[in-house]
Amino acid sequence: MCRSSETPLDRVMSGLQDLPGWLAEQPADQLGDIIIKGREIIDRTEAMAAEATRRFEKARGYQADGFLGMVPWLRVKGKLSGGAAAERVEVAHQLKELPRTEEALARGEIGYQHAVTMARTAEHLGATQVRKAEATLLKAAETMDPGQFVGVARNFEHQVDAQAALTEANRAHERRYLRIGQPLDGLVRIDGLLDAEGGAIVRTALEPLAKPAKGDMRTADQRLADALVGRCRAGTGAGHPDGAGPRPQLIIKGSLDTLAGIDGAPAGELEWGGTLPAETVRRLACDSAVTRITGLGELEREITHAGRSIPPATRRAMVARDHHCVFPGCDRPASWCDGHHLVHWADGGPTKLDNLGLLCRTHHRKVHEEGWKLRREKEGRWVAAPTQHTVARGFRSTRGVRPARA
Ligand SMILES: [Zn+2]
Ligand SMILES: [Zn+2]
Repeated sequence: MCRSSETPLDRVMSGLQDLPGWLAEQPADQLGDIIIKGREIIDRTEAMAAEATRRFEKARGYQADGFLGMVPWLRVKGKLSGGAAAERVEVAHQLKELPRTEEALARGEIGYQHAVTMARTAEHLGATQVRKAEATLLKAAETMDPGQFVGVARNFEHQVDAQAALTEANRAHERRYLRIGQPLDGLVRIDGLLDAEGGAIVRTALEPLAKPAKGDMRTADQRLADALVGRCRAGTGAGHPDGAGPRPQLIIKGSLDTLAGIDGAPAGELEWGGTLPAETVRRLACDSAVTRITGLGELEREITHAGRSIPPATRRAMVARDHHCVFPGCDRPASWCDGHHLVHWADGGPTKLDNLGLLCRTHHRKVHEEGWKLRREKEGRWVAAPTQHTVARGFRSTRGVRPARA
């Protein structure tokens, strides 16, 4: 190929093509520099893309591909989410008014996320205000990570226009909402927006509950989801160290057959709509502090309420003995745990210390719905193992609590 017909973009592309082979030969101690260079290439390319986006949009180049606007074109052709595409276009517009910022990005002195913050600030205050302090802001951006720089930019906004910053915060606050959908395919969609303060409060409350346990196979998102449920479930008993305080009760409509686990029994019905498999009803009924089962008919007469609810004194004795979730490797505190009946009360198991053990929700679920077998050995050691039935159904065993025979 004739060298003169090669564009700079061709050279970048052929460089990228050579990268994997070259990278494989690099020693580990060089990789930090390589990652930094890689980030710089991405950021500097964003500056080039911003300028190109402006000119392409002005010329309505997207129309040739059948698109009505720059954002949808960028979403499809640039493989970006709607939000990311809209951000690129907005940043491109703002950087037109902030040429020093665009140059700093093109030279790799600041990162793309710094430029986004500069663009947002210009959006809030007007580019003229930002240009007056552009040099100072860029200097801060060069020495700070983007998260810290957002703080500097917010501060600057506040100095320039305290009222505008307050209006902006109030506008953001007005957009807050939380939606809890109807159960669909066994799942409930929850989505929402909180203002920064609300978000911080929720995060602070959930993070400590979302830490991975030993051998935890849950994803970070799954752990956060579990933390939300756990936090809500703890209810007013959250401050109670042994979890014996009042907790919100789920009201479930169930039948005797469902609780007894008889084939062909109807599913449990939740008060808010949605059905529960029999084994889930059995788990929830396992600790009556978290559930009230209605519609049992005969069962109400056969098993007295006193027989299946764990009396406070028994719960305290169980907490004193177990301290935390008894599933091997788990140390979630008692306040997050249910009292599990080793032999279910619906099957005639007594609500006595010998037949009870503390289980966190994740592990209580494992024992019921995922079919793990939990038992307490004579010397008080707890052993958990997947049953044949569990393995046959293809449930994954949890790392770190492998049964002896595996
Ligand atoms: Zn149980
Ligand atoms: Zn546990």
